[in-house]
Amino acid sequence: MKVSGMLEGKIAIVTGGTRGIGYEIVKKFLEAGAKVALFGSRQETVEKALGQIKEKIPEAEVMGLYPALGEYNEVEKAIQEVQESFGQIDILVNNAGISARESIYEYSPEEFDKIMTLNVNAVFHCIRAAVPFMKTQGGGSIINMSSMVSIYGQPAGCGYPASKFAVNGLTKSLARELGKDQIRVNAVAPGVTRTDMVAALPPEMVQRISATIPLGRVGEPEEVANAVLFLASDLASYVTGAILSVDGATQV
Ligand code: NAD
Repeated sequence: MKVSGMLEGKIAIVTGGTRGIGYEIVKKFLEAGAKVALFGSRQETVEKALGQIKEKIPEAEVMGLYPALGEYNEVEKAIQEVQESFGQIDILVNNAGISARESIYEYSPEEFDKIMTLNVNAVFHCIRAAVPFMKTQGGGSIINMSSMVSIYGQPAGCGYPASKFAVNGLTKSLARELGKDQIRVNAVAPGVTRTDMVAALPPEMVQRISATIPLGRVGEPEEVANAVLFLASDLASYVTGAILSVDGATQV
């Protein structure tokens, strides 16, 4: 699908942009004409992703940073660096996230903290550091990566759904708070999506999961990226506070 021009002249930050859904979002945004700063967790994975992108899209204007997203000072410094390098910040995609499936009987407080730090605190940190720039330049678009588990919960690993309920809460509240500054805040809630984790599952298991989904298959990372692109773009100029499900109508 041709998307060229949809984000012409826009500057975007994508966290967790080195692989999976985040990597697809970075590529989609570049194809749509944006300049992109991708944030990853480590220098090596950031450099590898930048190399792959440059090979696929030689004209891409892309930079990579690896702030510890759980540390506000590091996030603030990285976002300042993007502002200095690219001159503005129009789009922020809070995509980085981790999950866990431990039973409550085995769940350690440290694991719970780790999930909350990346899936919730980091989202707050990035938004807190980016919105002053967006306000000054007259607006922006923030997209947070939620999950279908933010609607249904899940039967193990309570920290992950709890973190995604919190992401929805940040999304809905900040949409109301930041509307006056022309900053839109939305979330995308994917169902099971074919990232490395799903690709590593036995095919029979993927088939079993697919059979429970009305569209009869798991989602592709690009399909999630398409929804993020829509929300980032001016096509969604009157959409804010939405939690957009991209899950083939999964009912769990
Ligand atoms: P993934 O594991 O393939 O990628 C996760 C990304 O987050 C990577 O780029 C990684 O570098 C980054 N990351 C992990 N720990 C980090 C840290 N400490 N600091 C900075 N970055 C870190 O995951 P994915 O499946 O592409 O998931 C991306 C988002 O989509 C997550 O928020 C996830 O909760 C959500 N999601 C995924 C699915 C799915 O089925 N894959 C479904 C619903 C929601």
